[in-house]
Amino acid sequence: MEQRLQDILNERFGKTLTDASDAEIYLALMLFTKERVEAMPRNTGKRKLYYVSAEFLIGKLLSNHLINLGLFDEAKALLARYGHDLAAIEEQENEPSLGNGGLGRLAACFLDSIATLGLYGDGAGLNYHDGLFYQRFLHDQQCEEKNPWITPESWLTDTGVRFTVPFGGFSLESVLYDIRVSGYQSGSNVLHLFDTPTVDESIIGEGISFDKSDIARNLTLFLYPDDSDEAGRLLRVYQQYFLVSSTAQLILKETKERGCDVRRLHEHVAVQINDTHPTMIVPELVRLLTEQEGMTMDDAIAEVAKTCAYTNHTILAEALETWPMDFMRRAVPQLVPIFEELDRRAKQVSADPRVAILDDQDRVHMAHIDIHYGYSVNGVAALHTEILKETELHPFYELYPEKFNNKTNGITFRRWLMHCNQPLTAYLETLIGPDFRKDADALSKLLAFETDESVLRALDAIKQQNKRALAAFLKETQGVTLDPDSIFDIQIKRLHEYKRQQMNLLYAVHKYLEIKGGKIPARPLTMIFGAKAAPAYTIAKDIIHAILCLGRVIENDPAVRDHLKVVMVENYNVTKAEKLIPACEISEQISLASKEASGTGNMKLMLNGAVTLGTRDGANVEIAELVGEDNIYTFGKSSEEVIRLYAEHAYCAADLCKNDAHIAQLVDFLVGEEMRSVGDAAHLERLHHEIVSKDWFMTLLDLAEYITVKERMLADYEDRMAWTRKALVNIAKAGFFSSDRTIAAYNDEIWHL
Ligand SMILES: *Cc1c(COP(=O)(O)O)cnc(C)c1O
Repeated sequence: MEQRLQDILNERFGKTLTDASDAEIYLALMLFTKERVEAMPRNTGKRKLYYVSAEFLIGKLLSNHLINLGLFDEAKALLARYGHDLAAIEEQENEPSLGNGGLGRLAACFLDSIATLGLYGDGAGLNYHDGLFYQRFLHDQQCEEKNPWITPESWLTDTGVRFTVPFGGFSLESVLYDIRVSGYQSGSNVLHLFDTPTVDESIIGEGISFDKSDIARNLTLFLYPDDSDEAGRLLRVYQQYFLVSSTAQLILKETKERGCDVRRLHEHVAVQINDTHPTMIVPELVRLLTEQEGMTMDDAIAEVAKTCAYTNHTILAEALETWPMDFMRRAVPQLVPIFEELDRRAKQVSADPRVAILDDQDRVHMAHIDIHYGYSVNGVAALHTEILKETELHPFYELYPEKFNNKTNGITFRRWLMHCNQPLTAYLETLIGPDFRKDADALSKLLAFETDESVLRALDAIKQQNKRALAAFLKETQGVTLDPDSIFDIQIKRLHEYKRQQMNLLYAVHKYLEIKGGKIPARPLTMIFGAKAAPAYTIAKDIIHAILCLGRVIENDPAVRDHLKVVMVENYNVTKAEKLIPACEISEQISLASKEASGTGNMKLMLNGAVTLGTRDGANVEIAELVGEDNIYTFGKSSEEVIRLYAEHAYCAADLCKNDAHIAQLVDFLVGEEMRSVGDAAHLERLHHEIVSKDWFMTLLDLAEYITVKERMLADYEDRMAWTRKALVNIAKAGFFSSDRTIAAYNDEIWHL
């Protein structure tokens, strides 16, 4: 490694490891690592998986590859010998923000596990030049800025492969870039990212504004910033078709190159459709197989239906995609007859309008295509899959019970333990040996030390070290001072009303008023938030504003600020997550029961020794089962109760305010004197009005119990040994949430690679 790095530095910059800058060393290390990853054996198999996703939130890659190659320690020691810090070199890398949040991050964890398990499977996505926006806080409001990440030399490699993607009235060239995916002590695969050569960053105006109609120049500029943005919906259709047409052409090309008969596609290929965004791959494959491969419509549809499998990620009605047929006629007229044919056949299977592909308002229901014309439909946590079967997709479950299955999400322990928490990883190895690195279940050996006070003290010391590291990072990057002796209570995830950051905000108001009233807590509390709001999601942005304003009110109050702190981390992304998660003590997982499909943040935090404060929602249910009720704090109405409240329209926020003076006091604080003195009255009032008059995600329903349970949790924290024992059990039981387990199940039960 040393010689190769010296050679690269000399060739490129005429420098050596002694006098090169961090940026130069990063480039050399990146090029060296890329060579090594390219030299890894490629995974192979009989059937090849294509994991198709509009998002891959891969995070920085340098350390990830070094760990997987087994070169991380060597690189770190080598750089240290020359007076450099690998962590500082890592800072030079741009994070590609090719995803919104959990869904995109899941796809990235899956690629890591597919490669690690030696499976033959590549990812296919889009090469957004500016990815998800960069979030900045200005006057305590979120501002969106462009977030370019591609540099002249990067992990991207131009493969030279080109396709033509036809749209109504014009066509675009599709350029295939690859990023290698390394497995941990294993072979490698590829993430394919398609791009347009005509994309033009100069059309970006103020913030992240651009001409939404100039498809040739805007197609791969930005990631659609999630489901609540109405603008640019037509552009989204163009993006989706560009992704799936490119992918379908690649699949047929590669399958032929492997010497296989594309007319028996399902024997050679499995396509996993990650949420509905890539759904048009179904009609596109049918189109290509009929028009170009001479198959009959019957045969093509049957073949595609044995090839494609679908993962559902949400039960939020507004997130189940439908597109007007008018969009399709404009953007992809060649698919229109196929949509109609798929619809005609679906209506023959069932006349129930709830399972139709085209509805009476001439809209296409994307999930319905996936379910009728896919061979597997999976939810992402046990509770979520049950709700799909019993409620949201019940008519489909009656038609096709054999298609439905659950695959509880997972996370890659290479990134979310071995890389982000090196002190904990090293200590675990001294206690239980190195097996957990390859076999996550081996973490359970830690249970043998549950009552060993010296082990508990050591775990506590590591948490303390990580808290200090986070405090130093936030001091440097945002100028805020954290007290490492306070309790670190963290809620990091996209901002959405169903995730209920606003409920946590109301808890902070409660604590503030208590301290003002003279009730000083045993120990200071630091509440940390990290969240981006979709640019068009007004209430989500108002919640960010209110959190930032409350932080300021507290900071301005000498009677409170030594006991309570509310901070919001700017631009929450994978890199920030890697710094926040190891330092967390209380993991906030407080979504309205039934609304969070799984969550994966909950798993990352548990693995790093945080104790969960959560509702019985998503994978929290499975965490509770694994760690036992003594090692998690759950609260709130059950999913059955919530589903009933919706069905009967029986929830009324105004009544809760009327009947509970304390709740009313907390909510009204949002528009009180203190908040108005620092914030924007119109925004605060809009949020207040939303909560008291609508509160679609039932913030006030669980607020009183949330406060009670959180207070109990803070009191329990004072028994340091008992608390750290809970942390230990959480780490020990986290093995189930390795994405290696998830992917092994996908392969055994869906892909059969
Ligand atoms: C894991 C992760 C998420 C998902 O968090 P949830 O709490 O499961 O919603 C979102 N964003 C980033 C950057 C992540 O790393």
